[in-house]
Amino acid sequence: MSKKILLEHAHIEGIETFDTYRKNGGYEALEKAIKTMSPEAVVEEAKKSGVRGRGGAGFPMGMKWGFLAKPEGVPRYLVCNADESEPGTFKDHYLMKTIPHLLIEGMIISSFALGANKSFIYVRGELMYVINILQQAIAEAKANGFLGKNILGSGYDLELVVHPGGGAYICGEETALLESLEGKRGNPRNKPPFPAVKGLYQCPTVVNNVESIANMVWIINNGGDAYAAVGVGRSTGTKLISASGHIKNPGVYEIELGLSVEEFMNSDEYCGGIRDGHHLKALVAGGSSVPIIPANLVYKTANGEDRLMSYESLSDGGFATGTMLGSGGFIVFDETACIVRNTWNFSRFYHHESCGQCSPCREGTGWMEKVLHRIEHGHGNMRDIDLLVDVAKKIEGNTICPLGDAAAWPVASAIRHFRDEFEWHVKYPKEATRPGAVYMGEAELV
Ligand code: SF4
Repeated sequence: MSKKILLEHAHIEGIETFDTYRKNGGYEALEKAIKTMSPEAVVEEAKKSGVRGRGGAGFPMGMKWGFLAKPEGVPRYLVCNADESEPGTFKDHYLMKTIPHLLIEGMIISSFALGANKSFIYVRGELMYVINILQQAIAEAKANGFLGKNILGSGYDLELVVHPGGGAYICGEETALLESLEGKRGNPRNKPPFPAVKGLYQCPTVVNNVESIANMVWIINNGGDAYAAVGVGRSTGTKLISASGHIKNPGVYEIELGLSVEEFMNSDEYCGGIRDGHHLKALVAGGSSVPIIPANLVYKTANGEDRLMSYESLSDGGFATGTMLGSGGFIVFDETACIVRNTWNFSRFYHHESCGQCSPCREGTGWMEKVLHRIEHGHGNMRDIDLLVDVAKKIEGNTICPLGDAAAWPVASAIRHFRDEFEWHVKYPKEATRPGAVYMGEAELV
């Protein structure tokens, strides 16, 4: 069984309340940090742990903290990105509603480390009930002296604000999130300057994901070195995975990084395997924006090595044969899934969510969506397939924020690995548009 760092106590009845959380060791890490450690020492433990941003980018959190500018007389902010909107990703939602004090304690420790006296949790706007749970947890922490003025008599003050998100996927991009938090339309900013220098209200700001911040509780209790000893290579610690699709046991799982994909997929402890009578066709390993890979690259890399649940192993082979761990949105497809329809569906989403600031994304996502719609609905031609590849290439790397890449990668990878299925839609439009029709290979059609 994988080690549990975040969800060890998630099964305990009443763990969402302060009393039960406290009885199970809650707020001990905060006491340790505030009473016995300097802010610099807390940052040092984060660096030692090697924990990487769990929102999708995988950038080392301690290093990100190290970039925070500290000009005299200027406030600094910590903002927790809880806007989780990536299709296929729902692990932060689970963590916040199940064990909210873990996030609150992590926020206080991290704010103390960064010298922030006012911090924010920006929660996806649709999750009003989660916002209420967090507000209740904040009130309890305050009533018990762990939050507010002069925390535990240390002289350190912290105000924690929960803010409902603007209701758009793009508000999960860190600079769009800051714009939204300031009350403006959630448009990503041009960088530099980065938020570590000019962030919220033009002050130095760190934006971290829910899961990243919650990890700080265990790191302070056990030390950064102990955290770094869990996992594999530079993929240290554990990761929450949102598993969905054609598997027997969809849900949120905490895995030790380095677990094999095969074990995660097939063990009864996790996904439980593909649903009965079906077989694996494809995997999107890290949320809808990462490249899709076909069944033959899911358990083994192109070099024949076991594919592991880690940042490095999942991306082994680059985009030719690999994918990404991303936000851990593990979406499984069996042979009944239509890759063209799924790609169109993802494209429709990204087109809808593009903020429209830069033309490659604004126009390109629209073109891809239209062309994919055409192919899926039996009106495509062979040139459309190359057109899609060309448009995806022109979006990638040419936009203000990563939404452009997020829209391009699923299209490019679907055509790279499932071109025959796109061609089948063009060659046999009547067959492809018949209700319930699924491509099973040309041989079966003839
Ligand atoms: Fe907006 Fe898309 Fe440009 Fe991002 S890439 S700033 S979402 S138009």
